[in-house]
Amino acid sequence: MANELSTEMLKAALTSIDDFASRELPDALLIGLDERDEFPEELVRRMSSGAELGVQLVFVPFEYGGMGGGALDVYRVCERMAAIDLGLATSELATFLGSDPIRVGGTDEQKREYMTRIAKEGVLFAYAATEPEAGSDLGALKTIAEPVDENGSVTGYQISGVKQWISNGGVADLYTVLALAPGGPSWFVVEAGAEGFTHGHHEDKHGIRLSNTASLFLDKVYVDADRLVGGVEGQGLVQAQQVFGYTRLMVAAFGLGAGWAALDRAIAYSRKRIQAGSPLSEKQGYTHKLIVPHAVALEAARAAIEEAAERLDAGEGALNVEGAVAKYLATEAGDAAADAAIQAHGGYGYTHDYIVEKIRRDVRITRIYEGTSEIMEMTIARGRWQEHLKSGGDYYHASARELEALHAEHPDIGADSAALAHHALAALLERCRVEKLTRHQHILFRLGALIAQAEGAAAFARRAQRAATKQLHPKAVRSLRAKPLATASRVFARGAALTIATEAVRLVAGSDGGDLDDFERDLDLPAIHRCQGGLLADMQAVADALYAHKRR
Ligand SMILES: Cc1cc2nc3c(=O)[nH]c(=O)nc-3n(C[C@H](O)[C@H](O)[C@H](O)COP(=O)(O)OP(=O)(O)OC[C@H]3O[C@@H](n4cnc5c(N)ncnc54)[C@H](O)[C@@H]3O)c2cc1C
Repeated sequence: MANELSTEMLKAALTSIDDFASRELPDALLIGLDERDEFPEELVRRMSSGAELGVQLVFVPFEYGGMGGGALDVYRVCERMAAIDLGLATSELATFLGSDPIRVGGTDEQKREYMTRIAKEGVLFAYAATEPEAGSDLGALKTIAEPVDENGSVTGYQISGVKQWISNGGVADLYTVLALAPGGPSWFVVEAGAEGFTHGHHEDKHGIRLSNTASLFLDKVYVDADRLVGGVEGQGLVQAQQVFGYTRLMVAAFGLGAGWAALDRAIAYSRKRIQAGSPLSEKQGYTHKLIVPHAVALEAARAAIEEAAERLDAGEGALNVEGAVAKYLATEAGDAAADAAIQAHGGYGYTHDYIVEKIRRDVRITRIYEGTSEIMEMTIARGRWQEHLKSGGDYYHASARELEALHAEHPDIGADSAALAHHALAALLERCRVEKLTRHQHILFRLGALIAQAEGAAAFARRAQRAATKQLHPKAVRSLRAKPLATASRVFARGAALTIATEAVRLVAGSDGGDLDDFERDLDLPAIHRCQGGLLADMQAVADALYAHKRR
């Protein structure tokens, strides 16, 4: 993305979101809407209106009347929105997703028409890809677009089919619909109210009940040929792929924002809640299980998100694997943090009166939409497997060497443990190659999960180093000061190394993948066990920092 907001503009946009939320979106209102399963259309339209909040302006390019935000800007806005309400954030995401195929693949006229309408009129979009029988595997789509021929030239298309689980499905003004044209899957822009175009009821969902989700029914819906995005058939899946790095970063930011929103509430609650004569915040059995590991995992995810966002802003291509790593880490961490936040509130957390209960249901979706966690595991594993093969098995040994060099200069940021994690990962990948273990889908997918851990640990160590040397990007979130950030990085890296080593043994032994003695040596288990030294003191230091420091 060419443009970016200035740091001051970003700050102003975040302040406007906060002001709008504190004025218009008190917890009681959000809990009530959730309970009544109500989509607050008027609120959403005001949030999209330039005269009021105009959130969507952040992602509309400057030349079409938007603010032209980059990936870092969009991540920051998404995190903030998700911390307020993930359902409302999803409604905004739907407009972003819906206009994405146009932004990346549309003709100049299409970009001008639709991006300008989003900026000026605040129109709501929906992104209609999923079908009842085509979810993770979009290639199985059945919706068809039949060309309408006049005097030998295509003047339009008739679209027929069913779309499922479409955010803004019942309320959008414009829809981008993926349909199979003779030349292959293609995006079409369909207006609400077109003849033959109807939608199902507002789905009764587990969470994000403030967002509208509906199925769509298209019965020979006619669109003019100029509604084919990009003007050429068969570009649909490529256009969807081109933006995955970017859109998955947004959902990663959702996991981060919702996870921290829940954890912040648990931290506040535990300061005041007295049990056995002292606040819960002073009890290790509480903090070291329900608070610290989740704060650490969320901040590791933040490191992966910010690194990917900076690289996207620098024009480094689609970054599909990096986007998947960020989404996987952040949404898994956000979900676990919200679950821990319920536990941290005891019986109160289990009631609708406490918003952590709602956040827990809301954040669950982030592990499902924009590619499920399992599809992320597959994407990561396949992408990095190729790198392992291309490098003759050196890909993660090479990154481990970089981490060792980083450790030599900055011995307290966890880069040594992260290096052990990377060496162990390289050993596991190589054993999988030699014994052909990725023929087991379970192993392939576990590799994706372990790779995410290793890459999260590396990103975290680099972030801690940048914080220590005052080189963090001006737009980066300062969630912890440099010293506790380095401590948190050490905690995460130790966990990553141990998880990778333990899982590696489980997977190789469990699949009868050859001799274990050599393998255990290759993993360097003694070093990984030794690097756990100091863990408890570090966890205590993170707890102290979290309770001393008011975030934001
Ligand atoms: C609230 C909500 C909002 C949504 N909004 C939108 C939207 O705006 N636009 C849109 O197009 N879609 C939207 N979706 C759809 C969403 O992206 C899909 O639900 C998601 O991609 C999963 O597809 P599916 O539901 O068909 O599940 P499936 O693909 O059938 O997956 C079911 C399970 O099987 C696993 N699985 C799938 N394939 C494999 C495989 N090859 N190997 C191993 N395991 C596998 C999955 O990880 C999952 O655990 C939304 C969904 C929800 C619930």
